[in-house]
Amino acid sequence: MIKIHQNYPLKQSNSFGLESTAIVFIEVDDPTELINELNNNTIDISNPLFLGTGSNILLNSFEVSTVIKVINKDITVLEESRDSVLIKCGAGMNWDEFVEWTVSRNYGGLENLSLIPGSVGAAPIQNIGAYGTEVALCVESVIIIDILNARKFSLSKEECSFGYRDSRFKQQESKFWLVWEVIFLLEKDPRINLSYKPLKDSFAANYQPDIKEIREAVIRIRRSKLPDPAELGNAGSFFKNPVVSACQAGLMKENHPDMPTWYHDPGTVKIPAGWLIETCGWKGFRRGQTGVYPKQALVIINFGDATAGEILGLANEIQQSVKSEFGIKLEMEVRIV
Ligand SMILES: Cc1cc2nc3c(=O)[nH]c(=O)nc-3n(C[C@H](O)[C@H](O)[C@H](O)COP(=O)(O)OP(=O)(O)OC[C@H]3O[C@@H](n4cnc5c(N)ncnc54)[C@H](O)[C@@H]3O)c2cc1C
Repeated sequence: MIKIHQNYPLKQSNSFGLESTAIVFIEVDDPTELINELNNNTIDISNPLFLGTGSNILLNSFEVSTVIKVINKDITVLEESRDSVLIKCGAGMNWDEFVEWTVSRNYGGLENLSLIPGSVGAAPIQNIGAYGTEVALCVESVIIIDILNARKFSLSKEECSFGYRDSRFKQQESKFWLVWEVIFLLEKDPRINLSYKPLKDSFAANYQPDIKEIREAVIRIRRSKLPDPAELGNAGSFFKNPVVSACQAGLMKENHPDMPTWYHDPGTVKIPAGWLIETCGWKGFRRGQTGVYPKQALVIINFGDATAGEILGLANEIQQSVKSEFGIKLEMEVRIV
């Protein structure tokens, strides 16, 4: 099935709740129909926006030419061995519903990523991560439709060049690559990951939870810390956690002995961007319809009718104050469209 809408309002299709319109909005669950349309040149694909649930974008323009949304939600078990299972999932599937599906079958690997908003198709784009893991660890391959050449192909995990909130899908070369399906390799005898301290601390000492209990704990902690986009417009973490050399972090600690750091790669550490922003005094700040979430300084809020310009203006001010206080340029995690 392919449905083509004209002048489609996007306010309900982005978690900041910003006003914008798609001149053409395409919903598709059949690759053949999409490829036929592409071969017939019926779609303007000069500047496409691929959209999941819009929970990691900021719509900074009142009009978007062509939006393509995959609504294929099929889940297929491709292979099963004694230890592992290979599962293909359509890009249009809701991420957390997919995680729930895997956890209910005791397939391990995604439980720490419970309750992250969004679609399965968007998960590899920024290599979603939380609570001590990232999706790249469970991705086997990604099936793509290249809408410029109207062809389907697949990329192995290695070819996806996953990094911290990063992948090949963020590069210019992938501008026309629509993620169609993602193939995951999950464990049938799940290893429990309690490397994230607040998660570990949510269980009694020495208690060994199963993945259902991990999922429940992650959901509980996330609900206590993060705003629900259905109630308060936001796109989760607005900035990435900066990665600096261990040497630079050591120098910063001379002035800020309480600064937390997390090991990243050898010789580098991550600094929580939320701590940097909070230390600059932004936590709970509000101006008009936009502000910084009082429980987590990394989240910028639209209290109602904020414009993209107001949100970006606040983000820029935050960036400048962190730069002048710490000499660190915060990089945006949210994609500005
Ligand atoms: C409250 C809240 C908490 C969050 N917590 C986390 C977290 O813990 N960890 C984390 O990593 N992220 C987090 N996020 C960010 C967000 O949930 C993820 O980035 C998620 O993967 C976005 O999915 P989406 O379907 O909404 O993508 P969208 O916002 O629709 O799109 C995001 C990007 O992916 C591209 N894209 C979407 N679908 C496709 C497709 N089929 N093919 C090609 N490109 C596509 C878009 O063009 C865009 O560049 C949070 C967001 C919110 C609102």
